[in-house]
Amino acid sequence: MLRVKMIMIMFLFTAVIIAPAPGFASTYLIGSGIYDITGPAAEVVMMGYDVSSQKTAGIHTRLRSRAFVIGDGAKRVVFVSADLGMLFQMVKVKVCEKIADDPLLSQFYNEQNVLLSATHTHNGPGGFSGYFLYDEPESGFIWQNFNAIVNGIYQSIKLAHNNVQSGRILINQGTIEGCGGNRAVTAYNNNPAAERAQYSSNTDKTMTLLKFVALNGEEIGELNWYAVHPDSIGPDNHLISGDNKGWASYLFEKDKGTNYQASKTFVAAFAQSNAGDVTPNIGYGQAPKYVTFAQNPSLKNAVLKQYNEAKTLYNSATQELSGSVDFRHEWVDMRTLYVASANAYTCAAGMGASMSAGSPYDNPSPTPLFPDGTTVSSLNWNDNAAETVLSSLLGGLFAFAWPATNDAAYKACQAEKPVLIPTGIAHLNINGPTMTPQIVPLQVLKIGNLAIAAVPSEVTTMAGRRIIKTLISGLGSAGVNYSVVAALANTYTSYMVTREEYAMQWYEGACTQFGPNQLAAWQQEYTRLCNAIVNGTDVDPGPTPEDVTGLTVDFAGGTAVFDDVPLGKSFGSVSTQPNSSYKRGDTVSAVFWGGYPNNDLRTQDTFLVIEKLVNGAYVPVARDWDPETTYNWARNSIAYSKITITWDTTNASAGTYRIRHKGNWKLGWTGKISAYEGVTNSFILN
Ligand SMILES: [Zn+2]
Repeated sequence: MLRVKMIMIMFLFTAVIIAPAPGFASTYLIGSGIYDITGPAAEVVMMGYDVSSQKTAGIHTRLRSRAFVIGDGAKRVVFVSADLGMLFQMVKVKVCEKIADDPLLSQFYNEQNVLLSATHTHNGPGGFSGYFLYDEPESGFIWQNFNAIVNGIYQSIKLAHNNVQSGRILINQGTIEGCGGNRAVTAYNNNPAAERAQYSSNTDKTMTLLKFVALNGEEIGELNWYAVHPDSIGPDNHLISGDNKGWASYLFEKDKGTNYQASKTFVAAFAQSNAGDVTPNIGYGQAPKYVTFAQNPSLKNAVLKQYNEAKTLYNSATQELSGSVDFRHEWVDMRTLYVASANAYTCAAGMGASMSAGSPYDNPSPTPLFPDGTTVSSLNWNDNAAETVLSSLLGGLFAFAWPATNDAAYKACQAEKPVLIPTGIAHLNINGPTMTPQIVPLQVLKIGNLAIAAVPSEVTTMAGRRIIKTLISGLGSAGVNYSVVAALANTYTSYMVTREEYAMQWYEGACTQFGPNQLAAWQQEYTRLCNAIVNGTDVDPGPTPEDVTGLTVDFAGGTAVFDDVPLGKSFGSVSTQPNSSYKRGDTVSAVFWGGYPNNDLRTQDTFLVIEKLVNGAYVPVARDWDPETTYNWARNSIAYSKITITWDTTNASAGTYRIRHKGNWKLGWTGKISAYEGVTNSFILN
């Protein structure tokens, strides 16, 4: 007892020493980097809606990886926000393998201090998981996309590292009204009344923003977290887009003169947080396919609300972060994790019946097998009749070994959840991986008085709030008084809800894979990581996850055998010229004969240039990443590609313009890929 007291006193003493005095600011090493991760723009199913007909057919905005290196001289951390639907486990693993192979970067970074988080855009190409459940809608694993993502994230980290300079970090918080609504209110309302009473809303409206400024005054970038789904653009869209968060980043970066092709430039990241039950579409309605503000009020609202608040917080930030940089990371096996507070173990993964309902406002299933709220008792699941039917149905549909679903311990572990797909015990083949990952990474970063929890799933409003409290209490003695949840980080394991929400088995609860105590388990582990930071001790790295890269069936589509153009035409020939003149606000369009988009992703480049005549020479004014342009691909005949380029001139100035298209075509005999360009006649914008 006395010994315990002595240790506690020593801890308190240590805490007093290392906790920064109020108002004391620290100097950090800070670097930012941004790199293109846009994948194949033709015939690849998009990640997010699980709609197999939603295939890429062009580009609205390019997808980017935005990286920040932050260090205190002794230790460094990397935070990446990537315009992706999910951050799959093999992406994190392979990015870290590339870092390990890099003689310079490997001196500073590894899986322990690199945090990769996805924005959760629902309009990017998929097929980059390696786990069957997440590659299934894409009909397999798409190496071209996987490699573009892994390399792009790695390049962004490399740029951030090369750009490191001494600077200060300012922190600011505000709230955004009317930007997100709770789509699972019934589940949320099952949280304790006393807990709900602590908050004014059933969504987390807090935006937390970091402003990075070099000691010489140079603005390095901003990084903010705000909880809202980036699915303002619906599942009928076929253009790659960063959705509301990608567009908000674009606007902020445009204000700061960001050059996407430069090795050093201002970076503005809009990262994801506890948005598991937060839709941008309540009150606006999701526009199924539109990528313009005029046609998509939900998109306009979510973009401008986030952008405006970030600008306000950035411009008014005065408080500086202070204190040391630190991190802890561990892998945990979620099949067998003992949860002390529940005196129970977590469960092998499983997806509940209500996952088939989809989520209202964002992606409801037109024909759900089971509605939201389907529980073991409501289904009388124990009679086995329903699951016998489903096992034969799904077991026949998917050609993998369907396990015995009468495993009593597995079912008991999942409590209220009737398992529809036993993702944690079903195998693609007898020696293959399970359908979703079960050895997952948990990580805490500390940047002065801010703590960041890397959560390897989507996480609901209240679950996120509990994690934030866990970090504040775990690291409070080390001076931490700000905390954020970085969701969809390092791995994707679907959703995570609170114990009370789990009991209701709404869509998000049905997609909480490791049973009723998953949140308590992760809170326990975050506490362990926080304690290790406070005590300066190491944590057991945990088991090594299996490498499943490419283990799902290789995707068969997404390539052209060869490209061709009609007789008398060449690649880049204009098929339909723009009009000779337009009024501002009109949408200009032109059609070219072109090549297949996936021949070359034109990474860090563009498929189109809007050129303006200035002093007798044409200069570029917009490219394929600018949201006022679209690059649209359509197959014509067997081997022809028709490329339609549009330009919304609402914000353009009067003048003389023309449209250039750049692409790559493939020769059938040799597979040789060659670049081409074409340009339209000029036109007047009045
Ligand atoms: Zn989601």
